[in-house]
Amino acid sequence: MKDRYDYIVMGAGVAGLSFAHEVAKHGKSVLILEKDKQIGGLSQTIEYKGFRFDYCAHRFHTADPDLLKEVREIVGSTFKKHTKKSRIYMFGKFLKYPFELQNLLRAMKRTQAVKAIFSFGINFISRQIRSLLRIERTKFRDYRDWFTYYFGRTLYLIMCEPYTTKIWKTSPQDLSADWADQRFQGIKLTEFVARVIKKLLKLDFSSYSLEDESLAPDGGEFYYGEMGAQEIPDGYERALGKFDTDILTKVVIEKISEDDKKIEFVVRGDNVNKLKVAANESIISTIPLHDCYSYLERNNNSVKDYLENLTYMDIIFVYLLIGKEQVSNDHWLYFPDEDIIFNRSVEFTTWSKLMSPKGKTALCLDITCFEGDDTWIKSNHSLVKECISSSVKVGLIEEKEVEGSLVIRVKDAYPFYDLDYKNKLREVVEFIEKRGFIHCLGRTGIFRYNNSDGSIGMGIELAKKFISSDSAGSVLDYEVKEISY
Ligand SMILES: Cc1cc2nc3c(=O)[nH]c(=O)nc-3n(C[C@H](O)[C@H](O)[C@H](O)COP(=O)(O)OP(=O)(O)OC[C@H]3O[C@@H](n4cnc5c(N)ncnc54)[C@H](O)[C@@H]3O)c2cc1C
Repeated sequence: MKDRYDYIVMGAGVAGLSFAHEVAKHGKSVLILEKDKQIGGLSQTIEYKGFRFDYCAHRFHTADPDLLKEVREIVGSTFKKHTKKSRIYMFGKFLKYPFELQNLLRAMKRTQAVKAIFSFGINFISRQIRSLLRIERTKFRDYRDWFTYYFGRTLYLIMCEPYTTKIWKTSPQDLSADWADQRFQGIKLTEFVARVIKKLLKLDFSSYSLEDESLAPDGGEFYYGEMGAQEIPDGYERALGKFDTDILTKVVIEKISEDDKKIEFVVRGDNVNKLKVAANESIISTIPLHDCYSYLERNNNSVKDYLENLTYMDIIFVYLLIGKEQVSNDHWLYFPDEDIIFNRSVEFTTWSKLMSPKGKTALCLDITCFEGDDTWIKSNHSLVKECISSSVKVGLIEEKEVEGSLVIRVKDAYPFYDLDYKNKLREVVEFIEKRGFIHCLGRTGIFRYNNSDGSIGMGIELAKKFISSDSAGSVLDYEVKEISY
């Protein structure tokens, strides 16, 4: 390690790594400081008893061909293409997901289905009229407002309210409509309606069992490394090895002094000598905003207040080790019902056989919560017990098939978009970036609900701003193209 680099990056997630790679390609030196013992952040894969576990589903997909080309080159030949298979458990059945309306309607009670068609139809027609009159709405107060406008109240009550409330522990009317705008970007409702009508004409009444191949796949391609999500950060680490870069893990950052452009930290486990390294150009923060703010020598009471009300959502992963080859042929399954403790089930063996020992599989069940709430403080034993019982209830497994378990709690997994998050965020980021020395970046670093492609794209974009000498650049307004929960 040197005592001076062009850039110091806080956090070795994919945003920090892709930024480092882009500036290093242009001859810049970079030091990356990571608090964890492993790089990758939310896109990491952990090893346990011969299994490899991601932090839940981690498919890589992007609409940007240049970005796809870069990431494919970074990972190499082990990055394999898949066709997405996922389903949702509702009304006691596994249905296609993303929803196909006719599939959903068939699963509902008849009266409910008629109401849903009616309310969706009225909405659709009134929106077409508004569009002809050029008075279509573009501004929405909240997520409920947005969903009801596009899909109607009945489908809101069935499809949106229960699952959103389960995931976010908050009613859709208290969540920003930005979340919906990002989440559903690209849906063309006229095409959607045409598809539904076409399919309604040839209804078949097949079963809804887990073995039912006719309900899957639901289309959409993505890439995934044979050894898990970790292949992307590992690929970047390999690529960075060719340039003037260093990565330190198990780092505890203590202070950033902007006056002398230095950062102070210790490395856990080493002798506890404080290290001081200078950055010629900038410090890039991909870590939670609260951490970044706490390292500054500057402070400001209103920024502190904004930060107190800007929350990340946390998550618990319960991994069940299963003594058989396969549970389902889906990449993941969604569970909106309140009485099922987890939101999703992901079976990594379906993604790559190398993720489990031969003849075994595993389920990753995720539970969103906030640090310190009733769920977060539950014992691992009771979380596992409840997950097994829910998995048995929906027909995924039999209790006797579970051979082991692992529970992992991950903080700051989701930026929480409440109604006025945007104003608070702008104030905080502008304060941090004010002196032009620190720049925020990435899902966690700039509080942006995006997938890994968004974090990588943002990293490259910020690096390009620096390389083209636009060093005052910020990615606060980076446009997230498409996300999925
Ligand atoms: C449950 C779940 C499912 C997801 N599914 C998908 C998917 O299917 N496809 C997809 O593309 N994306 C998915 N994502 C999103 C994807 O994981 C993220 O977009 C991406 O990994 C974010 O990268 P990042 O570098 O921006 O942030 P992070 O990964 O959060 O990186 C920040 C880094 O900073 C480190 N750090 C934190 N605090 C400090 C500190 N004080 N000092 C030093 N280091 C620190 C962290 O350890 C971490 O390594 C999912 C995310 C979650 C939570």
